[in-house]
Amino acid sequence: MTIQDFTTKSQPNWCPGCGNYGIITALKQALVELKINPKNTVIVSGIGCSSKLPHWVKTFGFHSLHGRGLPIAQGIKLANPKLTVIAVGGDGDGYGIGMAHFIHALRRNIDLLYIVHNNGVYGLTKGQIAPTGQIGFISPTTPFGSIEEPINPIKLAMGAGGTFIARGFADQIEHLKDLFISGIKHSGFGFIDVLQPCIAFNKINTREWYKEKVYLLKTMPKNYTEAVKLAQEKTKIPLGIFWQKKTKNYDELYQVLNSKN
Ligand code: SF4
Repeated sequence: MTIQDFTTKSQPNWCPGCGNYGIITALKQALVELKINPKNTVIVSGIGCSSKLPHWVKTFGFHSLHGRGLPIAQGIKLANPKLTVIAVGGDGDGYGIGMAHFIHALRRNIDLLYIVHNNGVYGLTKGQIAPTGQIGFISPTTPFGSIEEPINPIKLAMGAGGTFIARGFADQIEHLKDLFISGIKHSGFGFIDVLQPCIAFNKINTREWYKEKVYLLKTMPKNYTEAVKLAQEKTKIPLGIFWQKKTKNYDELYQVLNSKN
C-alpha cells in the first residue's frame, strides 16, 4: 500500500492553506500504515467543506445529507461488519443538525471511526458561526458577536458514554495519523475531534492561535475525572487520547444476544 493507492485523479478544491489538507493527508497515511485495502473501506460524509473529503480518497464513499453521515455509516457497518467504515464531517454538520445522531452513535458503540473537522464556522455557506464558535465571534448570523458558550465536544462525548475520545490538530499530521490509527483499531465507536483553521472565515482561531495553545498529552488521563478536567482546559488545549474504554461493541453484543435466543 502507498499513498498513491488512496489518491484520486481529481484534486481537492479547498482554499489553499485550509486545515482540511492536513486531515486528508493524515488519514491516507493511517490507511497506508494499517495496510487497509481501499476496496474494503468506505468513507461517509455529511455536508460542508470537510464533507467533500470522500471525493478525494480512493476508497468507496458516500457524500450524504447535512448531519446524516453517522446513521448511514452505522447502517453500512451493520450491513457488512468486515468493512472499515469512517465517517467525516464538520462541527456544524456533526454538532449542529447532526448532534442527536452523534450522541446516539456514542452510546450505541458501533465499530467505526468518526472524524470531526472542527473549525468553528460553516465554511461552505460563507462563515456563519457553528456550535464550537467562540464567544465574541462576529459572523453573518452574529453581527454583534456571539454571546453563546461554545460546545465542548470532548466533554460531551465523555458524558454520552463514548469509548474512544481524542483530539488532534490538523497541522500536527504525524500525531493526527497516530490518533487515526488508534481510532480505527479501537473496537467500538472511535471519535476524534480535529481542530482545523478555516483561513477564509475564522479570524479568531487562526493557525497561529492554535499553535500557541495546543500541546500534546504525554499519557492518557488516569481516570474519567481527570479526563473531564483536561477536556475543560481553556488557556491551553491538550491534544491526544482523553478516554478509551474496552467494552463489547455493537456487533459483539448482537452475537451474544443471538446466541441466547
Ligand atoms: Fe477550508 Fe474554510 Fe476554505 Fe472551507 S472555507 S475550504 S473550511 S478554509
